[in-house]
Amino acid sequence: MTQPAPSVIGLKKSFGFGDRLGLATPGHIKSCVKTDFLPVFAQQSIREMVRTNRTPSDVMEDARRAVAETGFNRPWGADADHLKTVEDVRSTQAAGYRFFTFDPSDHVINEADEMPMEQLREEETRLTSEGVFEGSSLRDLYLGKNFQIDDNLTLSFGEEPLLRAAVKYGRAIRHCESLAEALKEANGGQAYEIEMSVDESESPTTPLEHLFVARELQRRGIDFVSLAPRFIGEFEKAIDYRGDLVAFEASIAEHAAIARYCGPYKLSLHSGSDKFSVYPIFARLCGDLLHVKTAGTSYLEALRVVVHRDPGFFRELVEYSKGRFAEDRASYHLFTTDALIAGLGNVADADLERVFLDEDVGRQLMHVTYGSVLTKGVGADGRPYRDRLMEILHKNADLHTAFVERHFDKHLSLLKLD
Ligand SMILES: [Zn+2]
Repeated sequence: MTQPAPSVIGLKKSFGFGDRLGLATPGHIKSCVKTDFLPVFAQQSIREMVRTNRTPSDVMEDARRAVAETGFNRPWGADADHLKTVEDVRSTQAAGYRFFTFDPSDHVINEADEMPMEQLREEETRLTSEGVFEGSSLRDLYLGKNFQIDDNLTLSFGEEPLLRAAVKYGRAIRHCESLAEALKEANGGQAYEIEMSVDESESPTTPLEHLFVARELQRRGIDFVSLAPRFIGEFEKAIDYRGDLVAFEASIAEHAAIARYCGPYKLSLHSGSDKFSVYPIFARLCGDLLHVKTAGTSYLEALRVVVHRDPGFFRELVEYSKGRFAEDRASYHLFTTDALIAGLGNVADADLERVFLDEDVGRQLMHVTYGSVLTKGVGADGRPYRDRLMEILHKNADLHTAFVERHFDKHLSLLKLD
């Protein structure tokens, strides 16, 4: 039998089902076949691979096996997520990925938001002398021009917003050029696609920044199928959107219009799981031009199997996660604090699932500690938590698949256009 292989997904609405344990894909498949979303089954960022001790090939093989075993016969994608270096590009390309998400956040100058004009002009001169922007092209291309995005939106750059965008993203754009070159070289003649992500910038992406980044990438010959802005409001892990839905809707309308004007390309929603309140807005305003990424939420459905089948072990994982939280939360932006975790108090067996897998504080606790649980945690019997967790999931594969399917049915039904 030939090995199932991922393909490019193009401008079709799509949904990323990250699977940190390599056992959730059968549930993802059961849910996605009920919709017209094109699925991305292999999807893991380099950071998540490090945290789970998995290689790009491990992630790919787990997805392939699930596709083969379930007889899934539609196209599916494989997303090498949040690639930061040329080495990340090469290692994931070699493992067979077809969708490459560039993350130039290490080269984004967030301070540009606050710099005085004088300093911005100095930075402009430096970027020009370094060859990031050639000569007077920056001002010639943007100043005094009206960009008629659609009937409701016209954008134009004054000197200040232009320089802020150029200084903030100039080196990031150049870094993407080197990633794109490495990808082209490594990939030979095979089809592939690129997503541009700036979702980990410190402030929400403005319409002018979006327009600037898109046009600068395209001017350099970098074709991308999707772009992930940092949207307004909070997209925290494992919980619903926190923020003003009216403002979100107005902002998404602008970003979607820019994506149609510059591309068309898709808008990509990262940390996209559990954002039930914004899905209908996102779907309505983007139409087919949308992509959603989820990952850790499937891990929580795996833990749901544990709480049903071995509540004693689940409690052990909770206690361990509480001890890890202060450290493990560091790389995340969360509303949940150490004090809120302490405030959970003693929880009866009957309430474990609700408190730690359904309510926000408990979900964030269990979400951010996955790397520790999977690679460091060891029970009193000397057995790694990971081994015990995997054994429970293998023994209860049908229940696991049912939980995952139900969870994603909820996601995908809210993203469906009626
Ligand atoms: Zn992201």
